[in-house]
Amino acid sequence: MNGISPKHRVLVTGGAGFLGSRLVSSLLRRGHEVIVLDNFCTSFPSSLAEFQDNPAFSFVQANVTEPLSDSLKVSRIYHLACPASPVLFTQQPLEILDTCYQGTRNILEAAHRWGARVLLASTSEVYGQAERNPQDEKYRGNVNCFGPRACYDEGKRVAEALAYAYRTQRSLEIRIARIFNTYGPGMHASDGRVVCSFVGAAIEGKDLIIKGDGKSTRCFQFVDDCITGLESLMESNWSGGPVNIGSEKETTVYELAEAVINAVSALTGRPKARIVYSEALPDDPVQRRPNCTLARKILGWEARTPLSEGLSHTIDWHLNLYFIRDYRIKL
Ligand code: NAD
Repeated sequence: MNGISPKHRVLVTGGAGFLGSRLVSSLLRRGHEVIVLDNFCTSFPSSLAEFQDNPAFSFVQANVTEPLSDSLKVSRIYHLACPASPVLFTQQPLEILDTCYQGTRNILEAAHRWGARVLLASTSEVYGQAERNPQDEKYRGNVNCFGPRACYDEGKRVAEALAYAYRTQRSLEIRIARIFNTYGPGMHASDGRVVCSFVGAAIEGKDLIIKGDGKSTRCFQFVDDCITGLESLMESNWSGGPVNIGSEKETTVYELAEAVINAVSALTGRPKARIVYSEALPDDPVQRRPNCTLARKILGWEARTPLSEGLSHTIDWHLNLYFIRDYRIKL
């Protein structure tokens, strides 16, 4: 993880996405050669524009559900490709399930052929509607396998099961990160996840819509903390099970809305946006908080960025985006 660590040829699936593009940036900075495989189903080519002139970067437009060519042979694979926006859980559940099962199977199969190490981006959603809080890695979860979020939650569970099977049956080197809510620059307001939805609405002077009573909690992790956690886990000697990567600081959705409204108003000088309430989403967990003792112990890692600091970077990014698109004229 420092300047003298070995350099790798690295494949990042989903590398054009929110987490992926930030990870690519960090890997290139550390001197690795990076290949991104993505089909842009939830992202845009523009997110890779800053890497195009870097000779250590290359891109393959492909669907991870198709077998991988051996010309891509690498020694490390970060497998992030999967739609993660809740908006898509109802629109594309079959594609999500295919990506989670067949896509992960293809990656693991290629890694086996190449002798590569794989980091699977799993999720806190494998814990479902948790009956205990905080959730450590031993908690087996409470997921509804027949509901609107099942494609994603069960998809990620089967992806973990595949990783386990390849480790036991094919001796593959596997790392599994159970990522908790992450936010930051690069996540678009249209994505549907709560932080960027609130930031987008506040900037446009629209009401912030809280689904439910606002008392449900999340632990919001800033993207750069998450990326450091993923890279540390990949290069660690840990050969055990999944590792939670998240912030342990719990915030209610109402507190988040207030923080976003105040920060946007302070930065833009605009009047404060209003909060309105709508019906809670089915199967949306009411409380979500990781126990990150394992990550602290084996990686010496924890999420450190305070919400106020992370929000300010995120709002700046959104304001710049709106400025570029001339939306700022509306402010
Ligand atoms: P994202 O939607 O921004 O990025 C996903 C990327 O994968 C996109 O570029 C998309 O085009 C690509 N992709 C999707 N399906 C593909 C396919 N079949 N073939 C090729 N490319 C495909 O999402 P993100 O927030 O960056 O999440 C990245 C990973 O991290 C996902 O696996 C997600 O489940 C996991 N994760 C993210 C969070 C979070 O808070 N952001 C939390 C938990 C887990």
